[in-house]
Amino acid sequence: KKTEIINYFEPQCLKAPLQTESRLLASGGATNPYNRSFDSLRFPTMGMLEDGAVKIMSEVQDGIRHLLQTENDYTLVYHGTGTTGMTGVLDNMIEPGDKILVGEMGYWATVAVNIAKRLGANVIQMETSHGSRFSLSEIEAALQKHRPTILYLINGESSTGVYQPLEGIGELCYKYDCISIIDVVATVGQQPIKMDENKIDVVYFNSQKGCGGIVGLAPVSFSPRAIRKVRRRQTLPKIYQTDITEQADAWYITMSAEQRNEAFLHSFSMSLLYSLREGLARIVEEGIENVWYRHADTHRYLQFRAEKLGLEPYVRNPEDRLIGTTVFWAPKGKDAVKIEHYMLEKFNIAISAGLFVDVGKVIRIGLFGNNANRVAATKVMDALEIALHATETNV
Ligand code: PMP
Repeated sequence: KKTEIINYFEPQCLKAPLQTESRLLASGGATNPYNRSFDSLRFPTMGMLEDGAVKIMSEVQDGIRHLLQTENDYTLVYHGTGTTGMTGVLDNMIEPGDKILVGEMGYWATVAVNIAKRLGANVIQMETSHGSRFSLSEIEAALQKHRPTILYLINGESSTGVYQPLEGIGELCYKYDCISIIDVVATVGQQPIKMDENKIDVVYFNSQKGCGGIVGLAPVSFSPRAIRKVRRRQTLPKIYQTDITEQADAWYITMSAEQRNEAFLHSFSMSLLYSLREGLARIVEEGIENVWYRHADTHRYLQFRAEKLGLEPYVRNPEDRLIGTTVFWAPKGKDAVKIEHYMLEKFNIAISAGLFVDVGKVIRIGLFGNNANRVAATKVMDALEIALHATETNV
């Protein structure tokens, strides 16, 4: 007997072809992926427990270690976005009641605060005015005063375009006996991280920025010191899928590949792993130092063009500016949202009129990964010049 389907309807919208348009993505969010990374999505898929998959996973781990300049064994990839990485590392390092000191330079730390509170942490917020970073002495004073078990900082605050250097941070965390967690989402693959040299304990990022890949994966790396803290936990992390102990089995860090059927945790997207592998391979092919240089050169050129247009940088001190995501004040009286819309409509270029901070008053441009080059920067700035004029004269 056929089951009667109640309220059945066939969505007519799904009979039309998928509508997409190619764009230059320069909003500071996802970038256009490297061709190698994008093309790999067409490669034949394979089972995640095949020998070929084990090899690709290991290559991805090596590529991530190279980007971070770390030898950490506990280096692997969560399925999800950078926010999954943020949630996962916080969940592994926080036990209810733990004190976490969060340095806030813009939007992203407020997300970390939100997550840490849900995990039952005692959250202490350290703030600085938007457009500036923390000095080492400010950080040390806060560590001395609050004695947290975790220090959380953002290496590149993409909402304000501020760069927080990592030199000295790890040393301070050793001195005050706490674990450092650093968000490197907006810096990795764009500028050096030097995780081991800087004695950083935990980092996370995503696959779609400096890695030049597709949205959907969140690489993480934990130092031996961080893993010792995980082992001393009295309670389990709250989230199963990002539990580093479980993931370390599935990524053959604590189990051998021969035991793979016992280590299975959840389905891995082999296609996304191909694309991450190819993004990382593209960086190795060019040479990581050349990649950093290319990003720095694009940043310098972008600033040069912005200066010609009379745009004032949001971050006053040039040394505090993030390389890949640059924020400028929109000219007085101009609505940056209108400029954003005009650029998209007329030029197929996505920039941003701000992210939570000073929205409508700033112009935020992200040129990283595949788009970190003078050709892309020229396209963006030529279009911006026209947009600034057109939104004024209503042309
Ligand atoms: N941290 C920073 C500094 C970011 O810029 C972003 C996203 N752009 C995230 C975290 C979150 O990453 P995702 O959007 O991949 O979840």
